[in-house]
Amino acid sequence: MSTSTAVSIKVQKTTQSRIKDLDFNNLSFGKVFSDHMFVADYKNGKWGDCQIVPYAPFQMSPAAAVLHYGQAIFEGMKAYKNEKGEVSLFRPIANQKRINTSAERMCMQTIPEEIFMEGLKKLVELDSAWVPTAEGSSLYIRPFLIATDEFIGVHPSDSYRFFIITSPSGAYYSEPVKVLVETSYSRAVEGGVGFAKVSGNYGRSLLPTKIAINRGYQQIIWTDGKTHQYVEESGTMNLMVVIDDVLITPPLGDTILAGITRDSVLTLARDWKMKVEERKLSIIEVMEAYKRGVLQDAFGTGTAATITHISHIGFEGIDYELPPVNTRIFSNKVKKELDNIHLGKVADIHKWMFKL
Ligand SMILES: *Cc1c(COP(=O)(O)O)cnc(C)c1O
Repeated sequence: MSTSTAVSIKVQKTTQSRIKDLDFNNLSFGKVFSDHMFVADYKNGKWGDCQIVPYAPFQMSPAAAVLHYGQAIFEGMKAYKNEKGEVSLFRPIANQKRINTSAERMCMQTIPEEIFMEGLKKLVELDSAWVPTAEGSSLYIRPFLIATDEFIGVHPSDSYRFFIITSPSGAYYSEPVKVLVETSYSRAVEGGVGFAKVSGNYGRSLLPTKIAINRGYQQIIWTDGKTHQYVEESGTMNLMVVIDDVLITPPLGDTILAGITRDSVLTLARDWKMKVEERKLSIIEVMEAYKRGVLQDAFGTGTAATITHISHIGFEGIDYELPPVNTRIFSNKVKKELDNIHLGKVADIHKWMFKL
């Protein structure tokens, strides 16, 4: 047992590391978890019991509020190991702030910055051998917060449990994706929770995504819940297009998740003096650009895959084939730059990398 200075974290190390079973050359996404996890509890009006314990199932009451009314939020972030073996996190403070934005929307207890950051640092440090180094790989980090009151009345929970688990992961999407423009189901609506990283947003997306997959697509392009005329996100990623050398993405608001990758891509584009527009973008405008031959690029942005190229857009029964991925100047350049920033191969002018 040992404790850290700022936040008291009890550490119980595993006596049976599983790392020898890990095939670093054959990593998938999110299936294997590293040796330890961080846990903190909120009860009786305060946060406490911060601990790092061996990764394992835990007990919870069947009446726990999270299981009934969905007070559950999460984050996704990554740690990278550079050539010198140093481990860095990408923009972790942004995740820390965003989980509290989500908590407030879901009427959940916010997590103090020092608990989030100290727990995160200590956990990733302890399991740093689990951070892979092969191209496109990283340690995926999943912080999440659940309501734990043993009470099935509908009411904001008075107790919460915060976890951080980590998973060594290979490249998430390797191939460009075929996406279907969804014009009946909605991911998010005005006044809803689309801007928050709420578990239920994912649950509701599974059926429309399954239908799209059955029709030969890999992902959906969500449109606005009211008119279904404006594009919003692509699957669980923010959506960007390049039309006539202008980078366009829907503006932040109730229905768009403020992606940290989205912000990073926009920042780099502006650094490079590219014209950037955050504005409403109708599917008709995208299709007209396609027909004029000026839809140069379309891609999703998110932590899991960084950049996912879109190969085809399915709309009103027709699949529109986009320019070959190797001709896409912006998305390839920005992906390379972010990869290089993650691995410390280029100057980190925005101070995005947080060294452990
Ligand atoms: C997490 C998420 C994103 C991407 O956010 P990043 O911070 O870039 O990982 C985009 N859309 C939705 C709906 C998300 O949940």
